[in-house]
Amino acid sequence: MNSSTIKNVVIAGGGTAGWMAAAAFGKLLGKNLNITLVESDLIPTVGVGEATIPTLHIFHDLLKINEAEVMKATNATFKLGISFENWRDVNQDYIHSFGYLGQGSLAALLSTLLG
Ligand SMILES: Cc1cc2nc3c(=O)[nH]c(=O)nc-3n(C[C@H](O)[C@H](O)[C@H](O)COP(=O)(O)OP(=O)(O)OC[C@H]3O[C@@H](n4cnc5c(N)ncnc54)[C@H](O)[C@@H]3O)c2cc1C
Repeated sequence: MNSSTIKNVVIAGGGTAGWMAAAAFGKLLGKNLNITLVESDLIPTVGVGEATIPTLHIFHDLLKINEAEVMKATNATFKLGISFENWRDVNQDYIHSFGYLGQGSLAALLSTLLG
């Protein structure tokens, strides 16, 4: 399929994924595409995410969104990981990280700060 022939994009669903896709397409390809998002008043969103993960930085950067403003306006948090207590056995906990953890985290932080 030749991408230059695509003129119209319809996004089904106005939840997190739908609106993020619409924002990305609109920002990056909006001059060349007609974008339509279809929502349903009858079907609710999942909408239970209580935090987001560090890789959302990439999305904010891509769309040139002021992350500090978004975080403040939405009272949001970054979820760095999930702690599973008594995971394999009693008193055996496990942290599932969504980013760098332990020794690698300082290098990653410095790399982010220093560019
Ligand atoms: C318990 C739980 C905890 C979670 N915690 C987190 C978290 O901490 N952090 C995180 O980032 N994520 C978390 N998630 C995941 C996150 O909440 C969901 O993945 C995300 O909200 C799903 O977005 P979505 O756009 O795919 O679906 P939805 O937000 O549900 O949107 C789907 C949309 O499609 C529409 N739709 C459906 N059928 C049709 C149709 N036939 N025609 C038109 N529209 C239609 C609906 O009306 C809705 O607007 C969690 C999920 C669960 C279940």
